[in-house]
Amino acid sequence: MTLPIQKTLPHRTVLVAGGAGFIGSHLCDSLLQQGHHVTCVDNLSTGSMRNIRPLLNHPQFRFLEHDVRDPLFIEGRLDRIYNLACPASPQHYQKDPPSTMTTCVVGAFNLLELARQKSARILQASTSEVYGDPEVHPQPEIYVGHVNPIGPRACYDEGKRAAESLMFDYRRTHGVEIKVARIFNTYGPRMLRNDGRVVSNFIVQALQGSPITIYGTGTQTRSFCFVDDLVRGLELLMESPSAVTGPCNLGNPHEMTIESIAREILSHTASRSPLRFEPLPQDDPKRRKPSIEIAQQLLGWQPCVTLKDGLQATIAYFALEIATAPPLPAASENRSGSRRAPTLVR
Ligand code: NAD
Ligand code: UDP
Repeated sequence: MTLPIQKTLPHRTVLVAGGAGFIGSHLCDSLLQQGHHVTCVDNLSTGSMRNIRPLLNHPQFRFLEHDVRDPLFIEGRLDRIYNLACPASPQHYQKDPPSTMTTCVVGAFNLLELARQKSARILQASTSEVYGDPEVHPQPEIYVGHVNPIGPRACYDEGKRAAESLMFDYRRTHGVEIKVARIFNTYGPRMLRNDGRVVSNFIVQALQGSPITIYGTGTQTRSFCFVDDLVRGLELLMESPSAVTGPCNLGNPHEMTIESIAREILSHTASRSPLRFEPLPQDDPKRRKPSIEIAQQLLGWQPCVTLKDGLQATIAYFALEIATAPPLPAASENRSGSRRAPTLVR
């Protein structure tokens, strides 16, 4: 469902950090389809080789297992860097909070250094979590947020906020060309079955006939964007004029309660799974909906995949996964992301 964009662009050399993850692997697909050369850098902590296996024989694709907390040196031309390297599911990013924080901050620092050396443009995958549990609704980019700096989500929220600060510091100090995308809840094929986020949890539970785990009363809201729409937005932001730095919200403004997304998924899967209400995690945001005026005006972007189409594509993916893929380890058993010496890539 990815729309062709910017077909007239010159072919670029692009690094996608976090490229073996859910969003990153779709981005790698799309960039290769447009004729670019892609280096995917990932430590495979929440990403998977399965997401990029079909790309491994592509002549313009290479994979580098590397932790962005370690410096990265690349020989030759580099035009664009997308920094998506970071666990995104609350379950995953809260498993090892110092690692999440350092991935956000040291990872951004290392990639900014690379951008500076290469005179490359860099796009930071930031998040709606920089708004915390927002007191302003919907959330415009000028809202400075309401984050608990000492809570369990802080390793991610504050890490991403610090990464945004670093981006703007490198622009002011070193003239690096930056783009900051604030991504709102995104879903689609290639989320992990044990990802822990709401859409993948509910779909897997519905398909397996197990209880749908609603945290809290289910009245909290989110706004769900299909991954193809999001990838198109990231690419448009990356190729926007230099003066456009963001932050720019990218998300689908169609807001819904968690109970209503559960019911939607039950209806699309024809599942009879019961709803099971469980405790609400600490600091869980009560309402979230992006204001996308900046993306609409500056990028001409808005989501176009309907919830029905996006859910059907995602349900089809998970149905096949459940039928064919080997069992996954529990979320807590995923690789922690081994670190090695600095990598020099030729
Ligand atoms: P994901 O967990 O599927 O992908 C993250 C990727 O980064 C994985 O492949 C993982 O192995 C890799 N990674 C993690 N730490 C790393 C490290 N130290 N060094 C190298 N690689 C590392 O998550 P996603 O949903 O695809 O999210 C991608 C990016 O988008 C993240 O930065 C996330 O914060 C941001 N984002 C996503 C959402 C969403 O709803 N999916 C919302 C807001 C922001
Ligand atoms: N949630 C839920 N059941 C689940 C997983 C998540 O009710 O099995 C809720 C969660 O408490 C939050 C919302 O769904 O209110 C979105 O959670 P997710 O982890 O997907 O992303 P978040 O927006 O919180 O980062």
